[in-house]
Amino acid sequence: MKRILIAECSQEIASFNPVPSQLESFRLATPAQLFAEHRPLRTEISGALHHFDSRTDIELVAGFGARSITSGGTTSAEAWKFISESFLDSIRAADKVAKLDGIYFCLHGAMGADDQLDPEGFLLVETRKIVGEQIPIVASFDLHGVITDPVLKNCDSITVYHTYPHIDLYETGERSAKLLLKIMDGKAKPVTVRVRIPALVRGDELKTKTGIFGQRVAEAVAIENSDKGLSGGIFIGNPFTDVPDLSSNVIISTNDDEKLAVDTATKIAAEFWRDRAKLQAFLTAVPDAVAQACAAKSGTTILVDAADATSSGACGDSNVVLAELIKQGYSGTVLAPLTDPAAVAAAFKAGVGNDVTVNVGGALDPRYTPIEVTGKVQMLSDGEFNNEAEGEPWHAGNCAVLKIKNITLVLVSKPVSLHNRSLFFAHGLFPEKFDLVIVKSPHCQDHMYKSWATTYINVDAPGSTSANLPTLGHTICRRPVFPLDANVEYVPEITVYRR
Ligand SMILES: [Zn+2]
Repeated sequence: MKRILIAECSQEIASFNPVPSQLESFRLATPAQLFAEHRPLRTEISGALHHFDSRTDIELVAGFGARSITSGGTTSAEAWKFISESFLDSIRAADKVAKLDGIYFCLHGAMGADDQLDPEGFLLVETRKIVGEQIPIVASFDLHGVITDPVLKNCDSITVYHTYPHIDLYETGERSAKLLLKIMDGKAKPVTVRVRIPALVRGDELKTKTGIFGQRVAEAVAIENSDKGLSGGIFIGNPFTDVPDLSSNVIISTNDDEKLAVDTATKIAAEFWRDRAKLQAFLTAVPDAVAQACAAKSGTTILVDAADATSSGACGDSNVVLAELIKQGYSGTVLAPLTDPAAVAAAFKAGVGNDVTVNVGGALDPRYTPIEVTGKVQMLSDGEFNNEAEGEPWHAGNCAVLKIKNITLVLVSKPVSLHNRSLFFAHGLFPEKFDLVIVKSPHCQDHMYKSWATTYINVDAPGSTSANLPTLGHTICRRPVFPLDANVEYVPEITVYRR
């Protein structure tokens, strides 16, 4: 029997969110819990388990798992210490029982801790110290990952999501398992090429189904699926993770065909660079967006406030769009989410059916100024519900639905992902029944909002995950980089990795 270890460390942070991520931001799994937790879900690990199950000569060994429940600010040193030690301890323990023959790590790539700006690289370097240089390691990543030298030097090959919005977590796990077995079976000798592109990107053209980025990813996927191909994709990094290696990268891994990997990765990178200006967000100033909403005659207007996207790492406590709607006297029905533990507590104190006057907004991120509102408490909940896409439980803490005249505000105690409609559904609220919805996510799957909305506007509000990238205030990432700097010159930086 061949022993394969699986472990997970997955988080995306926004360095510009002032609230650090603590251990409670993670779903932690001991080795005894890891597989049982993933099997019912559509995650990378469940996809990998499914593929490994098809073989009778494999013994699966579970390691530690840490998966962020939702993104947040930089991980605290204390949380990182616990996670990294638990992760590496689980590998030490597995290695002690008997020799490991292969490793699959489910990583994300856009994590950052107070005292460690390349957590994934650190875990891989330390893992090699435990298991040695010989055993194959394959790791999977989100395409928002920040890929680094320590990661690429210590993996035999890597895989990356091919979709944005991400709907191929399970398939990425399956691909990773397949790739690892191919290497373990001696059927593949990976050579991996990375071409770094000094550009940060955002906006609608990143949607792989419809955008220019999708065309580039398709080229990488075609190489992955070719005879000599093993893996291919494009990392765009997470523009909000301000770490030294933040940039975009094309990655192509082939079966011992360095020329194919270099040629194709270089070509895709050049095309990506050519299109960099199109791969930016086109945003409308908040007053203009609200004026357009006021002028809309029918149907639902969606105001996308990606600057406060919890799934990208923001707090979800921006009231900027809300305040402008009130200021301009928007009269249609509004549905909006907001993180504000104190306002929730006040609503709980008032009770269902009673009026309450509270300050909302800026509860966690001081860049927002609280506004006073008076509304009727319509519903109170414990904020426990399932994510409509992958099915796992999400925890918003206590929640309150507050009706302020025409505005229905869903107040949560803890930031919860808003890249789908789970929070609204959990409170019996259906976006299509409203005249206007504030969506705090850069993109959702089209059927959730875009395909049926009559007006759809990406607003230029302030926030720690603003798509207006030069406003964020990067201080750590490599410069120059487009669009933070003017006149950036493109010289392809090609690195070949082989173990
Ligand atoms: Zn992502």
